[in-house]
Amino acid sequence: MAESRTPQDVVARADRAADLADLDGAVSDCFACPRLVAWREEVARVRRAAFRDQDYWGRPVPGLGPPDARIAILGLAPAAHGGNRTGRIFTGDRSGDVLFAALHRAGLANQPTSVAADDGLTLRDTRIFAAVRCAPPDNKPTPAERDACAPWLHREVELIRPTLRVVVALGAFAWAAWWPVLRQVYGWRPPTPRPVFGHGAHWSGESVPALLGCYHVSQQNTFTGRLTPAMLDDVFTRAKDLAGVD
Ligand code: SF4
Repeated sequence: MAESRTPQDVVARADRAADLADLDGAVSDCFACPRLVAWREEVARVRRAAFRDQDYWGRPVPGLGPPDARIAILGLAPAAHGGNRTGRIFTGDRSGDVLFAALHRAGLANQPTSVAADDGLTLRDTRIFAAVRCAPPDNKPTPAERDACAPWLHREVELIRPTLRVVVALGAFAWAAWWPVLRQVYGWRPPTPRPVFGHGAHWSGESVPALLGCYHVSQQNTFTGRLTPAMLDDVFTRAKDLAGVD
């Protein structure tokens, strides 16, 4: 079976993904959420005027970064005209501009921009992925869509588990998506009550990756000054310290 058509297919296919390359391919062939499949394809068909001459990816967007990453950055979902257009996470939109500039300042990316899948960007010690792999209308996946997509995230974390030390959750949605990972991948019972998300929030447990909260790099936050480059630099400095990355 090449494509995942149901949430049950996602569970089965994620489970048998042998490595990240296999997982990335399987994610790209997922059609398990009818509403999101319709939306990602509609956006790819209609396109934004500025990108009218481009072929949109219009598929789920896999993670990015090396298999021995010590830092993971967990986002919400791809942007309709960003990752859903270029096929690479946080690539080709304003959120990505801010994120990759910060990763470059931190020495975790080889270049400060991320505009297209073939632009030469590489990450060091860092893997970026989203809790939901398809662009959702209004950036709001439903709880059922979040749950259907979770096995991809869980398997991805499992595959980088040997080196993973820190997870930076971009926004409250990603922060909340981490607790099921703790249970599924690490056999850890999430703390009760759940630690509250905030910028700079930090949770750690024995033998599991530390969790750092960071405001999402959305335009809503960066254009208003709620999230500044200095605040992002602080988060990545802490992440590197916790992960033992130079
Ligand atoms: S959101 Fe996830 S589970 Fe749903 S279709 Fe996209 S990749 Fe598949």
